[in-house]
Formats: sequence, C-alpha cells, structure tokens
Amino acid sequence: MYDLILKGGRIYDGSGMPSFIGDVAISNGRIAAVGRIDAAADHVLDVGGLAVAPGVIDFHTHFDAQLWWDPLASSSTEHGVTTVVMGNCGLTLAPCKPESRDALIGTFVRVEDMPRQSLQAGIPWNWTTHGEYLDALDRKPLGLNVATLIGHCAVRQFSMGEASVERAANDGEIAEMENLVRQGMAAGAFGFSTNANQRHYREDGKPVASRFAGLDEVARLCRVVGEARSGLVQFTHGAFAAPEHVAHIGQWYDTILKETRRPLIGESIRHFWKEPDLWRKQLNDVEERCCQGYAAYAMTSTRRTLRRWTLKDSTRFDEMPAWKNLMTLPLDQRKEKFRDPQIRRDLDRAMAESKPISFSCRWNLIAIKKAARPQNKTLEGKNIDELARLQAKPPIDALLDLALAEDLETTFEDAATQADEEAVREIFNNPHVLLGQSDAGAHVANANPGFGFATTMLAYWVRERQIMSLEDAIKKLTFLPASIFGIHDRGLLRPGMSADIFVFDPAKIDLAEPEKVQDLPGGAPRYIQGAKGIHYTVVNGSVLMKNGGHTGVYPGKVLRSA
Ligand SMILES: [Zn+2]
Repeated sequence: MYDLILKGGRIYDGSGMPSFIGDVAISNGRIAAVGRIDAAADHVLDVGGLAVAPGVIDFHTHFDAQLWWDPLASSSTEHGVTTVVMGNCGLTLAPCKPESRDALIGTFVRVEDMPRQSLQAGIPWNWTTHGEYLDALDRKPLGLNVATLIGHCAVRQFSMGEASVERAANDGEIAEMENLVRQGMAAGAFGFSTNANQRHYREDGKPVASRFAGLDEVARLCRVVGEARSGLVQFTHGAFAAPEHVAHIGQWYDTILKETRRPLIGESIRHFWKEPDLWRKQLNDVEERCCQGYAAYAMTSTRRTLRRWTLKDSTRFDEMPAWKNLMTLPLDQRKEKFRDPQIRRDLDRAMAESKPISFSCRWNLIAIKKAARPQNKTLEGKNIDELARLQAKPPIDALLDLALAEDLETTFEDAATQADEEAVREIFNNPHVLLGQSDAGAHVANANPGFGFATTMLAYWVRERQIMSLEDAIKKLTFLPASIFGIHDRGLLRPGMSADIFVFDPAKIDLAEPEKVQDLPGGAPRYIQGAKGIHYTVVNGSVLMKNGGHTGVYPGKVLRSA
C-alpha cells in the first residue's frame, strides 16, 4: 500500500534519458517505485497525457527574507519549483549580531530592490549564527525545500562591524570569518557566496562589504568550503567593467577554484546586442577552467528582456538617424513619409547597415504582438519576415503597410536580451551552463518577474523554439543543479529519492500575465506571476499545489549539506 501513485504520465526522470509512460509510487515522502504499478494507494492521481518530472530546483534566489512571511515562496511553487537555494550574491541574513541587522537590511534594500518597510516588518531576527537561522527556519511551516549559502557580506559585517564597508580585514578578523563559515558549513549550509560587482552598493551608498575583501581573505574563506568537502562557491561580479576589474575577477576565479576544488558558479552569460560576442568569450573562459580540471559553471537566464512598441511613439529606432528623424515628426507627416517608396528604401537600408547597439535590426526578430484591427488578429505572433513571405513583399513594406492600415497602433515586440537564437542555443546547450538566474524574491517591483524561469524554458525555448529536447531541459532544471550543489537525494525520479515532483502539460504550459499585488509586510507592492498548464507540484510526497492553488499542506524541509 503506497501513499500516493501518479498514474499513466510520461516520465522525464531528470537524467536526460528518453521519456516513457509509467506510474510513480510514493511512500513516506520518497519515491518507492517507478514503472507499471498495480498496487493500491491512499491517493491515486490520473496524470495521463501529462509530463511527470522532478521538481524544479531554483538555485539562484533571494528568498532569505520572503520565506518568513510567505512560506510558499510565491510565485515559485506555482511553477513547479520544489527547492530553492538562497544566500546568493554574498547576501544572507545570517550570521548577524543585533547591532548589524539594519546594515544587512540596507544591503538587501539596495542590491536586491526590496522595500525597507517589508524587511523591517517581516524578519523575526530570532537567530545570531547561520545554524540558528537554519534552526529557526526548521521550526517554520515551509511549502518547499530550502537550502542556503553563507553570504560573505554577512560574515564580514559580523566580524568587522562597520569597518567591513571601509577597509581590508586584518589577520584576526579573517580568522573570525573563517570560523563563521566553518560553523555555517557544519550546520548544513551548501557553500559560500561572494560578490565583487562594482555596481552593488548598500542603501547608504557604501559598496557592499565583500567588495573590500582582498585576495588573501577570499582564499582563506573559500579554503574552509574546500575543507568541508561539500557545497560550492557562488561568485557574483559585473560583466561590463574596467580592465583592472576584469584582471581582479580573473584572480578571484583562479584563487577560489584552486583553494576549494569545489564547484564554482560564476559568470552570468547572456546575449546582448550591445556586446554581441561577449557570451562567446565568457563560455570560452568557463570551458578553459574546466579543461584545467576545475568544476567551473556559469549560469544564464531563460528570460528575454522584451520591448513592446508602436510606430506612434517608439524610441526603439533612435540609434538610426534615418528612422529617428521620422519618429520625431507629427503623426500626419510621419504617415505621409512612411508611404513614400524612396523613404522606405532609406529606412530599409538603415536597418540593413546599422550596427545594432540595443536593437537587433533583424526583421525575423520583430514580432507582431497585438493587432489593432480585428481582421489582423490572425497575424499576431508572426514576425515581420514571416509576414513579408506571407504577403510576398519586402519586410519594410510588410511592416509599414500593416502599421499604416492600423493608424500606427499595431503593437510590435522585440527582445533586448537572449534574442539571437543561435547564441542562445549554444549558451543553453553548453554543459557548463545552469539554466535559471531567477533572482526570485528580489527586485519585487519588476513587472517581468523571474519566478517562472522553468516555465519560460519549457514553453518558449523548448516547445516554441525547439532549442533542446524536453528531456535535456528537465535535466538542466533538476538533476544538474541538484548534483552541483550536492543535493544528492533530489533531482531524479528514481526509487529512494525524495518525492519532489512537477506535473505539467507540455502542450499548454505557459506563463500567466504578471499581476501587481500589495501583499508585502507593511503593504508595499510587488509583482507575482502564475502559470498555465501546471497541474501539480509535489514536495516530499505531498501535493502542495494543485492547478495553481495551495492545498493547505506545508511539506517543505530545510536541507542540510552532507
Ligand atoms: Zn543574485
């Protein structure tokens, strides 16, 4: 007799091996059997026609504060996330002395865009050490599993007080920091995070504490992670920085890898029009470190930064004078010019010859997002290249004819990041690149929130763009992060593993529209975003979410590294 059986789904077990139709049986929070199961169970869910996968592991979040007032980590659990790692980017709420609480809050407020009023009202502060923080979380009902990293800024603040944002540490201070990291690792943290991003400041305008660390300090703290023989180091640094910063970053990489011999998650790799070859260089750097024998990894975001515009009021073309000159004309004159064949040739040439800076200038990357007239609704979702072929005319004519027919009210869309699909294909498929840089819990006012990074992957990149197989995508969202972090009993659907499961319809999974809500402590607003086509999120064998709604249980656990 099992507790729960998921019957007749297509099982993507997380390994990347081919999917197959079968049943999954669960007992005592663990997977008991996979295959054809005829035994009885307390509950049987018919999941025929659906995909059954390990729960998503969101390895880059900033839920450190939010979990105290929102144990479901909304909206992550609606997107099949069953485990989150927090404490990224050098930021944690532990260890912390009472007199330093405000300093840590100030770091989260500025770096992660969280409202001060919410942090002040919502954090219980019933801990001093990292271990006490984990214990306090353990006493709380949690919807999903939580793993932590020890943040360098917190450790530095603990050891040095306000001197941590003024100067390098002395030998005694570094020794105290080593102890704090050692204690945190012993208590079950999954590693250490540090931050050298030159754009990261505290609320009072001082650079975040980890930016004052010398190489010696970083080496000694990372060595502690190496001695623990578990966990990893997460290293945040900016991409667009001065040459001396780049050299500095290179030294940090070498030092961390050499001292720890543990996995390192560093580079954040994305395609930008501004620096279209940067991703290639970043990938080469990671691969070179791997060739030297290190477990080096990078991460990428599945989100595209989308821009929506009309030819009525767009600044999207401002980098091209031929376009910009027209876009500043009064509407009637502008329409007149858009009809002129000679001017259309000039605009077309500008698109072909301009070197893209923040805009792709590629017809196949401009999509019709929303038609203004009912008769053009069927064109929505097509790109301008496709429209041109459909109408057997040049793309410039297809774009302008449609816009003019709709009084310039057609909404178009293009992506400022992750838009060059050839680049994205290489980045996503690289074995050293982790998918998901959700920053969930942070940047709460962002109208394009990151909770649904896995949903975006499965809906847009896998189903629509076919950038990789569903099997490979699931592996990248589950088994790969579980393995790198050393969460060894999760990320696979195999007997004996913890029963974290995500059930969805591959044909229907998608993001819902983001919503602005006012539910933070102190009443501050934030954006949430639900999902479509996700049927169940199962955590430790209990159904946590059903069709987007919470079932009322709190089966989550605080995970502790081996
Ligand atoms: Zn971060």
